[in-house]
Amino acid sequence: MPIEFTFTPEQEAFRQAVRGFLDKEVAPIVAAMDEREEFPQATVRRMQEEGYFGVPIPEAYGGLGLGKVGYAILLEEVGKVDASHGTILGAHTSLGTTPLLYYGTEEQKRRWLAPAARGEQLLAFSLTEAGSGSDSGAVRTKAEPHGDGWKVTGSKLYVSNGKEADAVILIAATDPARGPEGGITAFVVDTDLPGFSVGRCEKKMGLHGTSTAELVLDGVELGPDRVLGEVGHGFRVAMTALDVGRVSLGAASLGGMEAAASAALAFAQQRMQFGRPIAEYEAIQFKLADMAMRIQALRYLVYHAAARQDDMGTDPAQWGRLARQEKTREAATVKCLASEWASEVIDEALQIHGGLGYLRGTPIERAYRDARISEIFEGTNEIQRLVVARDLLLRGI
Ligand SMILES: Cc1cc2nc3c(=O)[nH]c(=O)nc-3n(C[C@H](O)[C@H](O)[C@H](O)COP(=O)(O)OP(=O)(O)OC[C@H]3O[C@@H](n4cnc5c(N)ncnc54)[C@H](O)[C@@H]3O)c2cc1C
Repeated sequence: MPIEFTFTPEQEAFRQAVRGFLDKEVAPIVAAMDEREEFPQATVRRMQEEGYFGVPIPEAYGGLGLGKVGYAILLEEVGKVDASHGTILGAHTSLGTTPLLYYGTEEQKRRWLAPAARGEQLLAFSLTEAGSGSDSGAVRTKAEPHGDGWKVTGSKLYVSNGKEADAVILIAATDPARGPEGGITAFVVDTDLPGFSVGRCEKKMGLHGTSTAELVLDGVELGPDRVLGEVGHGFRVAMTALDVGRVSLGAASLGGMEAAASAALAFAQQRMQFGRPIAEYEAIQFKLADMAMRIQALRYLVYHAAARQDDMGTDPAQWGRLARQEKTREAATVKCLASEWASEVIDEALQIHGGLGYLRGTPIERAYRDARISEIFEGTNEIQRLVVARDLLLRGI
């Protein structure tokens, strides 16, 4: 694995195209979206038309074929503009399409992955339940054999895109006594099936453009073709998707940090107090320097992890144990550091803005509310530290 790499001209061109698109079409609507707490239907539709909901998916399955590095570029740029759009993209792409791309049969890829990558269908991923958050192996939504397929009963919580999704990657217990070791299975579930309904949608501190929905499954009947990967191996499917998600969360956090730091720098250079721009005071300079150092470090971490995921390919059967462990530890490291650094950088950027930073409707105030969740979802940072600690106890630092 090379330590250094440069972006290809194709990747640079993609970044410029995304940036132009976001400035023109997304940046102007995010303040109103946040205030109204509305899913940004029109801009999501436009991003689907541009192919942005299938960036890492091979062209053969309707994607742009730009891999995880291309996907990180997209999320870094989106993260600069709005975390809600980043979350909608991430829930669909990292958590929704990864199980289909990595574990789906050819038929499942044609039926669910290709329309999702082309932007015709929106996906969600549903693992969390009332009694099963960090302890994600304790899911109780039950899939029981029914004819040649399954009948699913239970309820899931906090599903991003849950209200809007056309299909959901659902993690259910097929043998609750066995838990994550053989007792959990991943399914792809169309949301228009009888017995499937959307329950309560949560009001949140931030991410006002996203839905966070309860899903109710009341005897939903699924054919055998809805199982992703092997029966009983769904926990691994979920963890593989989360490894991808944790790196993409890092990319979106990187973008959020860059936008906040740039805004703080510009503000500090023009805001006069005591007869000078506040950027001339060392207390402010040190804050800006700390921001820049975190951004530089995170940029390496994110793109190294994304490039490793590209190198490993999308067939889990080809992965050795060591490569799998390194990938998981690296994803946990990126997620944990990115989310904490983003919270710190955005907090300090808000501080540099003084009272203005606290006013409702400013980009820095929205970023502050939006950033906090990254320390919690896709596995809390306490859980990321457990993942890293377990690995270092086995393999060393
Ligand atoms: C806005 C939002 C969007 C979300 N989107 C999705 C989604 O799309 N799909 C989905 O499936 N889920 C989603 N979630 C759920 C999210 O992943 C969980 O909230 C998260 O994993 C934590 O679970 P919990 O809330 O049950 O907290 P708990 O697991 O109850 O944790 C409470 C506290 O205890 C700590 N803790 C727990 N166990 C340990 C331990 N062993 N050691 C040390 N500390 C521990 C935790 O770190 C945390 O600080 C979303 C949540 C939110 C708020």
